[in-house]
Amino acid sequence: MSNQISIIEIFQRFNTEEKCIKHFEKIRWPKGLVCPRCGSKRIFKFKAEGKTGKERHLYECVDCHYQYSVTTGTIFHNSHLPLTKWFLAIYMICSAKKGVSAKQLQRELDISYQTAWYMSHRIRLAMQEDDRFCQKFSDVCEVDETYIGGKGKGKRGRGAANKIPVVAIKERTSGKIRMKAVKDVSSSTLKGFIRAHAQTGANINTDEFTSYLWLDSSEFTHSVVKHSETYVDGDVYTNGVENIWSLFKRSIVGVFHKVSAKYLPLYLNEFEFRFNHRDTYNMLDRVLETSF
Ligand SMILES: [Zn+2]
Repeated sequence: MSNQISIIEIFQRFNTEEKCIKHFEKIRWPKGLVCPRCGSKRIFKFKAEGKTGKERHLYECVDCHYQYSVTTGTIFHNSHLPLTKWFLAIYMICSAKKGVSAKQLQRELDISYQTAWYMSHRIRLAMQEDDRFCQKFSDVCEVDETYIGGKGKGKRGRGAANKIPVVAIKERTSGKIRMKAVKDVSSSTLKGFIRAHAQTGANINTDEFTSYLWLDSSEFTHSVVKHSETYVDGDVYTNGVENIWSLFKRSIVGVFHKVSAKYLPLYLNEFEFRFNHRDTYNMLDRVLETSF
């Protein structure tokens, strides 16, 4: 974590609403203010008093008269919370290796539990891998699936009731991953997932599960780990992606206790994002870039 921006620097740079707005403006409109409705560049800035008496920083388009703020159409929209708290919350969620519970956010930011819960879900929406930042994998990849939730262990079949199948792909050279909660682990589901994240010609390593058999006669190269055989080809393995499962499971057990099917995709987003950006210096900016 030492290669990441410190909380002191975040605090010094973003300790007032004005500083946060100025920074977010630059991220939203790097080439200058643009009307979100008509695209005009003739924008008039003004301040007004909001319902709660708080000063609001607004923009008005000279051409279509649309009035908006820097947070309109972003994850921060319709929130009474200052950006100073949002920025700190993003920083906290990004820099904690296993994530941050709503309870902890409530305590550290001096907000209500409901607000903390709402904030962390909104932030998770922005913690998404995006094609701008993560292109399709083209190198050697490992693919595997597991089951999350429910009681007891179980992989593929017995014991898997009430559990949600999750599939992941990891590219070896970049160390990046993509994960997805899926409805089943059929060939067609796994095919859709692999095609979405790997380029034609990529070398896909999997185990002997029958849902991967189609890879043998497809647009990909298929290398199969034969757990049943004593001879092991040193270059064919899925340990990398298997390690992801244990990391993910530890993080949801440790911080979030139980994850429902409804929220699992969001937790997967958050985990994937944090994992892929573990060497990014300023994850706050990266989240701000996908917050609108
Ligand atoms: Zn306009």
